[in-house]
Order: sequence, then C-alpha cells, then structure tokens
Amino acid sequence: VFWTKKLDIVVIGLENSGKTTLLSVLAHGEAIETVPTIGLNVKVFKKGQVNMKCWDIGGQEQYRSEWSRYTKGCDVVLYVVDAAAPQKLSTAKKELHKLLDDGSIGTTPMLICANKIDLSPHVGEAELIDKLQLNYVMETPWMVLPISALECTNIEQVVEWLTAQGK
Ligand code: GDP
Repeated sequence: VFWTKKLDIVVIGLENSGKTTLLSVLAHGEAIETVPTIGLNVKVFKKGQVNMKCWDIGGQEQYRSEWSRYTKGCDVVLYVVDAAAPQKLSTAKKELHKLLDDGSIGTTPMLICANKIDLSPHVGEAELIDKLQLNYVMETPWMVLPISALECTNIEQVVEWLTAQGK
C-alpha cells in the first residue's frame, strides 16, 4: 500500500530554547526546501510515509503574539522549553497558557520538548509539569519528552510521536 500523510507542525517556544536546532536535526539530510525569514523558518521534509511541514516561529517577545496565527489549524504543536534555564519557566508557562486559554491550540496534540538535558543541572519531567502547570490542561492532549537537540538525544522519540500523529 502506498500512502503519504501531510503533517503541519508548528514549533514554538521562547528565544534560545532550541527551536532552530531541533528543526535542523529533525530535517537533517531530508530537507526538501528551506525558507529562512526573520522570525519564521519553514522546512519541508519527509519521515517514513509522512510529509512534514514545520513552521519554526521566533520566540522573541515581538513574535510571540504571532504564535496563535500558526497554531490555529496546524496538526501538531511542538513546544520547546530550555530545561536548563529554570528562571525562564515562568515566562514559558505564561506564554503557553495564553495560547491554551484563548483556544489557539484547542484539541491539537502538543509535544513539550524539554530541551538541553545534556546540560546540568536541568529541570526534571515532574518539576517541568509542575512549573508549566500542565496538570491543569484538560482539552489539549500533551506529552513531555526530555531531549537534547544538540546531542540528538531522544530525537527518534520525537519523530515517532510525530509520525504517530500523522496516522
Ligand atoms: P531558538 O532561538 O529557539 O531557535 O534556539 P536555537 O536553536 O537557535 O538555540 C539557541 C542556543 O542553544 C544555540 O546556541 C544552540 O546551540 C543551543 N542549543 C540548542 N539545543 C541545545 C541542546 O540540546 N543542548 C545545549 N547544550 N544547547 C543547545
């Protein structure tokens, strides 16, 4: 059986969390097209039977208001958090809950990538769930995955999760 699925992925998170690095690693060797723009980086690539179109949206303050424009109507959301920067988690929580509260994510599955676990110390999974107040999230199916985009730790799990959403 020959089939392909299309998956529109939106990669968001604060500046410096590792969005661009994660996207490059995901698309490594399979990039069909790259459209670098200020505040927006689009990559189209194929993993298995899934065609993935990734929108990496700038995390600086002036771009955060744009996140909802892209999360609405996408298939999955990757929320990248710098797990080695605990001082940034309250802003990460605030920006995430803004989107959750205004319905910009809705029932779209969200993978929270706890990035930079190669650095120590870094925030563990339970603490991250607590700090981001994920236990209050009801409508949006979410999962936390500790990763290192730099060292390619758990990247296969990200791909597995993505391809599972494409089925
Ligand atoms: P963006 O602003 O979210 O797109 O973040 P970048 O992908 O540009 O990464 C910001 C900085 O963090 C760069 O210096 C990256 O090399 C670094 N970085 C990204 N991922 C990791 C990681 O998993 N571990 C470590 N130690 N550094 C990372």
